[in-house]
Amino acid sequence: MRDVLPLDYVAAGDDLTNLALRLETHRAAANRTAWHWYPEHAEHPQESSERGYLLLLDATIVLADLNTDWLELTLDIAWRPELTVNAAVEVGCWCQPDHNVHQVRKERRSVASPQDLVDAFAAGAAMLLDVLESGPFEPSTWRTRTGLPNAPVAPRQ
Ligand SMILES: [Zn+2]
Repeated sequence: MRDVLPLDYVAAGDDLTNLALRLETHRAAANRTAWHWYPEHAEHPQESSERGYLLLLDATIVLADLNTDWLELTLDIAWRPELTVNAAVEVGCWCQPDHNVHQVRKERRSVASPQDLVDAFAAGAAMLLDVLESGPFEPSTWRTRTGLPNAPVAPRQ
């Protein structure tokens, strides 16, 4: 964990590790969680050289992978360009035109100190733990709730 954190934020490492463990050891997340680490992005990007979304680390928990449809939980720390924690529930998209994915629930917080980072990561993890506890675990239920088009009844050929 420390390898991917900016030097100013290394103090948050142990708390973040504990939160990450709570998430990936949840029974609904067991063997469904993948972490990616990008230590080469630990230092703040040069001004204006990188726009958008530069990941330090991310986790993906695949709750449903139905071949034609999916439901995933994601949690990441990224430069956007300020340091932010992003948590989301993502489902496959069945709109025309295709957006690929929709974030049907999300939480984003920018941070300015190690304690901010721990608080934001804890809030993101809590949101995802709430979904792991109670679902729904069907992507279609999330889409119905948020007014998005559902998957076709028959798989596309
Ligand atoms: Zn869409």
